[in-house]
Amino acid sequence: MSIAIEKDKCVGCGLCTEACPGNLLKLWEGKAHIRDVRDCWGCTACVKECPRQAIYYYLAADLGGSGGRLYAQNNEREIKWQMLWPDGSSDEIVTVKQEANKY
Ligand code: SF4
Ligand code: SF4
Repeated sequence: MSIAIEKDKCVGCGLCTEACPGNLLKLWEGKAHIRDVRDCWGCTACVKECPRQAIYYYLAADLGGSGGRLYAQNNEREIKWQMLWPDGSSDEIVTVKQEANKY
C-alpha cells in the first residue's frame, strides 16, 4: 500500500509535505520525495492535496486492485477521483465534500 510521486509533474510547492500526518514527505532539490514507502499507510492526504496530480495511490492486488493508479483532483466542493487501469482504461468517481460522512 503506497503512493508514488511523478517527479516530472511536481513543482515543489510543498503542500504534500504539510499534509502527510506521518511526516513522510520531504522536498529535496525542488521535488517531493517520500522517506520510505513502507511507512506509508495510504491515507491519501497527499494525493488529495497535490494541485498537479503528481502523486498517485497504487491500487495493488492486496486492495482488490490490479496495479492501477488513483489520482485526485481536489476542487472547492468536490474531489474527482480518477482510476487509470493497466489496460489503458479509466474510471472516475466524484465525492462531494459536504456529504463526506456518507462515504
Ligand atoms: S498517503 Fe498518507 S501516509 Fe502516505 S505519504 Fe501520503 S499523506 Fe503520508
Ligand atoms: S503537492 Fe504535488 S506539486 Fe506540490 S510538492 Fe507535493 S508532489 Fe510536488
